[in-house]
Amino acid sequence: MTQRVAIIGAGPSGLAQLRAFQSAQAKGADIPELVCFEKQTDWGGQWNYTWRTGLDKNGEPVPSSMYRYLWSNGPKEALEFADYSFDEHFGKAIASYPPREVLWDYIKGRVEKADVRKYIRFNSPVRHIEYNAASDNFTVSVHDHNEDRVYEEDFDFVVVASGHFSTPYVPEYPGFDSFGGRILHAHDFRDALEFKDKDILVVGSSYSAEDIGSQCYKYGARSITSCYRSAPMGYKWPANWEEKPAMTHVDVNTVFFSDGSSKKIDAIILCTGYLHSFPFLPEALRLKTNNRLWPLGLYKGVAWEENTKLFYLGMQDQWYSFNMFDAQAWYARDLIMGRIPMPSKETMKAHSALWRENELKLVTDKENYEFQGAYIQELIDETDYPSFDIPAVNETFLQWKKHKKQDIMKFRDYSFPSVITGTPSPAHHTPWLYALDDSLEAYLSDEPKPEEIRRAAGE
Ligand SMILES: Cc1cc2nc3c(=O)[nH]c(=O)nc-3n(C[C@H](O)[C@H](O)[C@H](O)COP(=O)(O)OP(=O)(O)OC[C@H]3O[C@@H](n4cnc5c(N)ncnc54)[C@H](O)[C@@H]3O)c2cc1C
Repeated sequence: MTQRVAIIGAGPSGLAQLRAFQSAQAKGADIPELVCFEKQTDWGGQWNYTWRTGLDKNGEPVPSSMYRYLWSNGPKEALEFADYSFDEHFGKAIASYPPREVLWDYIKGRVEKADVRKYIRFNSPVRHIEYNAASDNFTVSVHDHNEDRVYEEDFDFVVVASGHFSTPYVPEYPGFDSFGGRILHAHDFRDALEFKDKDILVVGSSYSAEDIGSQCYKYGARSITSCYRSAPMGYKWPANWEEKPAMTHVDVNTVFFSDGSSKKIDAIILCTGYLHSFPFLPEALRLKTNNRLWPLGLYKGVAWEENTKLFYLGMQDQWYSFNMFDAQAWYARDLIMGRIPMPSKETMKAHSALWRENELKLVTDKENYEFQGAYIQELIDETDYPSFDIPAVNETFLQWKKHKKQDIMKFRDYSFPSVITGTPSPAHHTPWLYALDDSLEAYLSDEPKPEEIRRAAGE
């Protein structure tokens, strides 16, 4: 009997899983029956932007944390699909840090070509998954919002690709309940223009703090203050941006910091991270981890060691992203199809323990992305995912980090060659700081916008 695979989520990870199976089929293999459940009305996960915050029109928590004017925070050459290059998609070389809409278009291009949309049931949040020991399969309970109907179906395998940047971690500080301005989590940040001419505080020292602060600077915030718990981000900030140590408390319009200083603030943006959250999974199947390179319990970072018919994709901290999800999806596919034998539980646990031990020794950023690169290489070596030059991607990360240290407002103006096609990327027609229009059309146009060029020239 044909085996059935449920994939939860049609973001980059879930789409990688669909593409992995389709690729095997295109080479003549019999593949299992696939059903991908996606709670949104379109695919792309985080990259499928919505203006909505809080709950969507069905009352479901909005998964996307992306905002207007978001540009890739790392070079696109570090995430390029090895089986679908940027050159192939755009038909020309494009610059290295595309805006969200351009990357969304690229993600969609590969899966449209693979014709896998037919496997996806949209508007369909998975409510619950139960493992049936007697029949060694899963019952998946789904809410079909198109017909407002909850139904159940049985599957032999489940792949959880629901992401881990959707459930905000929201700490509370003394005085929050009497603060006179707006307090929001980065998950609900949508448009930097809201903070034009405002004094804002970004709490945290992660990518979100760095990028949301930079967005607000670019779109005209009066001042940016960022505060950290353990270490400052340490970039050379523009004159109206200062870094402070931890926030201690707030009153009506003033924020106080642990060095005794204080500042009048209009809005507090909590860039305090996200929780791995799987409300649809019972205790025995639920991954529990913080955001790190080697969560325990997952053999090769994908197979749930306690029940190897369950898989997770993309649950690691992400230096590598799309290409790591691909490597994982190809590997999970081959475990599911029996092309790669599933080892004993002891072997799996010993393997994971070794990687965790090595993860704990990592100190520098370089060691971190090399670790993740080595992990991806290990997966790729065992499947037919096209091999790509991982040391070259690591070198790209190294340069990227250097550029950020040189000037945090200019790192996106650099370009890198593709590690897939070798094509050098051109410089973008407008420096990032002055490119206010982030639409696909503006980005792909060969002509800069006159008003942006005037802005860049300081006119
Ligand atoms: C603000 C922000 C900026 C980022 N910028 C970059 C960047 O520049 N470069 C980069 O490489 N990465 C970036 N990332 C990382 C990003 O998370 C990954 O690129 C990628 O989107 C992860 O893919 P995913 O499929 O694992 O998860 P997601 O993209 O989160 O997709 C998960 C999908 O699962 C669906 N889902 C969740 N629960 C259910 C359910 N119960 N039932 C059905 N469907 C469900 C969601 O609707 C969603 O479509 C950024 C992330 C954020 C939050």
